[in-house]
Amino acid sequence: MLKINIKTLGCKVNQTEGDALATELLALGYDVVEYWTEADVFVINSCTVTHKADGKARKLINKAKQAGCFVALCGCRGDVPDVDFIFDSREPMEFFEKLKEIKPKSRKSTEAIQRKTRTRAFIKVQDGCDRFCSYCIVPYKRKKLYSKPPKEAIAEIKTAVDAGVLEVVLTGIQLAGYCIEESGEFCTFADLLPDAAKVPGLKRLRLSSLAPDVINEKFIDVIRENDNICDHFHLSLQSGCDKILELMNRRYTTAEFADKIKKLRKVRPNAGITTDVIVGFPGESDEDFARSMDFILQMNFSRVHVFTFSSRKDTKAASMCGKVSQNIINSRAKTLSEELKKQQDKRDLNGKIFSVLFEEKTAENAYSGYATNYMHVTVQSEINLCNQIRNVIFNENEIARIL
Ligand code: SF4
Repeated sequence: MLKINIKTLGCKVNQTEGDALATELLALGYDVVEYWTEADVFVINSCTVTHKADGKARKLINKAKQAGCFVALCGCRGDVPDVDFIFDSREPMEFFEKLKEIKPKSRKSTEAIQRKTRTRAFIKVQDGCDRFCSYCIVPYKRKKLYSKPPKEAIAEIKTAVDAGVLEVVLTGIQLAGYCIEESGEFCTFADLLPDAAKVPGLKRLRLSSLAPDVINEKFIDVIRENDNICDHFHLSLQSGCDKILELMNRRYTTAEFADKIKKLRKVRPNAGITTDVIVGFPGESDEDFARSMDFILQMNFSRVHVFTFSSRKDTKAASMCGKVSQNIINSRAKTLSEELKKQQDKRDLNGKIFSVLFEEKTAENAYSGYATNYMHVTVQSEINLCNQIRNVIFNENEIARIL
């Protein structure tokens, strides 16, 4: 399987787009790895705000090229040397097409943990999707459903933990579709989680993108009973307007979606709940967009990836009437992003404490990582914090320090 590493430099916007790109790549069945040294394809999601950032990008690109990686560049592309491919991270279709031509480097084992110590491992437990959301090409390419047998999944988590991994991320194209029959009993995704969370030595179990229907009573009980399952839930909403959800064939209403969020917040009051939305879907009127925006703001997500609709050949949405002009799509995306930013600016982190798994040194005496709720946190520290879980507290200027 092709392994892809994304290195994001710069601001929160870049961070969000890098995460969204990783989510899409995972949904397409690629293996998103944590280090470029393990990757066949190195994507640099660059920042050109400063010459220093350009220099950092140049260094990384040179190293990855020398190691034989295919190097692609997106983000705020600055003055960087030759790369193999350049694309816009918000319009990655050409890049996805290009990936089909790239062959993985030969390796001894595709599943093996490649480094003795690493912070986080992604373990794919499910593949394929047969839901046919009307805008999505995935079911046409990967309709065959596969769920990894629980024993294999647990064994892979143990291997990762033995290799020094503190956090395991369970991924899949459609985790709600995880279901396996063993001796006449069905094991769903919620059934898999308790054993996964209880692997000795595993500090954190994180779940990748979830469809709302995975949130049922059993799932809520599992979340309540297993503290090491991270309180970050990425629930793809796609639209906050019921009419558009139906056109998208998303199989839930906004009321049902809101109910799932309410239940999650009841058991994990400080959960980070993130989502994806598409603006400008065919048939989306000004009123539909306004309704959608109201709902999105009401849900008070901790982060929203705003995508502009772009038609994918062979999907149902490609032949739908009521196409929205590109100018209107862009203006709706801008309006929504601005409203979300205003909401984000009102958040108050002062005095709040988070448990952070530090992953990398980002500058002299600066380390960054993710809190359980997937908030990206950077602190100043004279001691090396890499691969350590530490509590941090924020002050009134949103500056975090180690407790
Ligand atoms: S659930 Fe919908 S959006 Fe997600 S992969 Fe399946 S068809 Fe695509």
